[in-house]
This record gives sequence, structure tokens and C-alpha cells, in this order.
Amino acid sequence: MPDLHLPTGALADRIELTGLTARGRHGVFDHEKAEGQDFTVDIVLHTTTARAAASDDLSDTISYADVADEAVRLITGEPVDLIETLAERIAESALATGALAVDVTVHKPSAPIPHTFGDVSVSIRRLGVLLATPKPAAEVVVGIGSNLGDPVTQVEIGAAKLARILEYEQMSRTRVTPAEVAPSQPTQPNYINAVMIGRTRLSPLGLLAELQRIEDEQGRTREEHWGPRTLDLDLISYKIADREITSDDPDLTLPHPRAHLRNFVMEPWAEVDPWGHLRGKPIR
Ligand code: AMP
Repeated sequence: MPDLHLPTGALADRIELTGLTARGRHGVFDHEKAEGQDFTVDIVLHTTTARAAASDDLSDTISYADVADEAVRLITGEPVDLIETLAERIAESALATGALAVDVTVHKPSAPIPHTFGDVSVSIRRLGVLLATPKPAAEVVVGIGSNLGDPVTQVEIGAAKLARILEYEQMSRTRVTPAEVAPSQPTQPNYINAVMIGRTRLSPLGLLAELQRIEDEQGRTREEHWGPRTLDLDLISYKIADREITSDDPDLTLPHPRAHLRNFVMEPWAEVDPWGHLRGKPIR
């Protein structure tokens, strides 16, 4: 299978379940439906495991036992003619766990082939909503901020680069905002903030990767959470056909978990999109 192009290293984690075997009645021939045969399934869940590793809590990861239960239910359940169909149904159920992507292989080693053979299988990869290309183009809201290295210029350059990625983009006016700092941190220079709205054909994670590339080009370093920054681009909201995409993945939380608390996001957003909604509520 081709590699998944994932924006950060943390997204490359996998949970693999292989050799899951159960008897099913799938096949085009009557005798296959009547007698049944063994099917074996391999499932790879592409996900982020760092949060579960930190908490050591099953509820922070995908339960492979639940994925196995669902796959066995589908293998032993309603017969279909093709293992392509079975693979698709298993992939759909595995993606419902919130995995970023899944690979499913269905083996049918006793398929009715009148020759000596080792195995026959179908392998598919299906992408979850954070990796899938939106149809139609997604409507996105991006927060722009800077409080280091000539912030006004940084925001202008960041906005110009962002405008090359988005279509039908609109930029709010900039405003000056005092920096939010943790009590233990020294004070920081004021921020220049703005919001840009626009449309994109990039997936949510594809867009995040582009935002991070622009931040990096502008000399962003990531040592200190809440530290001063030359350019900060946050994906605030991502909607497809007016439906807000939600995610609690720490690498991309959607909508942005703190946006609704920040006047420096909500005010400029309302300026360019007075009828905008966040979490089902009007933004002004
Ligand atoms: P920050 O320092 O606030 O820009 O945080 C950057 C980190 O937050 C990166 O590791 C991102 O993967 C992660 N992140 C999670 N959700 C979002 C989001 N909606 N927009 C931008 N970065 C996000």
C-alpha cells in the first residue's frame, strides 16, 4: 500500500489485528452460501497512541477487542457475494472508532478456484474524515497571531501565504491583544491577531500540515507551549456542506478547543462572517 502522508510523526502509530478468523457464507455460488467457509481478516488502525500511553487508560485508545467483535459480526452475518463488499463493511465499522485511516485485508483461502493456490485476498485502505479530501470544498476559519519579530509584518506574510492555499479567502482587520501567559511565565509582548476564512480541498490534517509549514518558514520554534511566537496559525473550524467536523485528536482538535473563549478569534471572525456558527451556536 502507498504510504500515508501524515503531517506529524505522532500520527504514524498503528494498531494491527491480524489473522482474525471466522466462518461466513459469502460468495457468488449457492454452495458457498449454504455451507460457508473460513474467512480471515487483517485490520490496521492508523491512530494516535500518545495520549493513551500517557494516561494508560483504555478509553483513550481504540479497543481492538471491540474492532474484532464488529469484524466477526460482519463475517458471520448477512452473506454478500464479494469479499470486496465484506472488506468495505469492515473498514466502515473500524473507521467509526475514530481511527485516522484503516487498512483491511479479507482472505478467502478456500475460495472456489479449480487450481492449487495458497490464498486469495482483497486489501483496501479507507481514510477517516481528518484525512479525506472534502467534497464539496471545505469552509475553514484560521486564526493568525504573532508577538515576535515584527508581528505586523509576520501576520501580513502569514496571511499572504495562507491566501495562496485558500480559495475565496477573506481576511479580517488586525487587532492588538495582550498576551495570555501562565502565572509562572514572564510577561510577553502584545499579539497582533487576525482571522482568515476561505475554502479548501485539503483534508483537515493536510491543511494543518500546510499551516505548520508556513509557521516553520516564518521561524517558529516549538519549545515552549504558550511561549512567544513569530507566527501562530490555528485551525479554528472546518466545515463540509455546513457540517462542522469535530475531532478530539490532540494533534488536531476540532473545532479549536479554546477558540470560543477568545475574543481575539471570535471578534475578527464575526467581522468577516457575521452569520458564522461554532459548535452549533451563532458566533455573535
Ligand atoms: P500551539 O502551540 O497552540 O500552536 O499548538 C500547536 C500544537 O497543537 C500542534 O502540535 C498541533 O498539532 C496541535 N493542535 C491541536 N489542535 C489544533 C488546531 N485546531 N489548530 C492548530 N493546532 C492544533
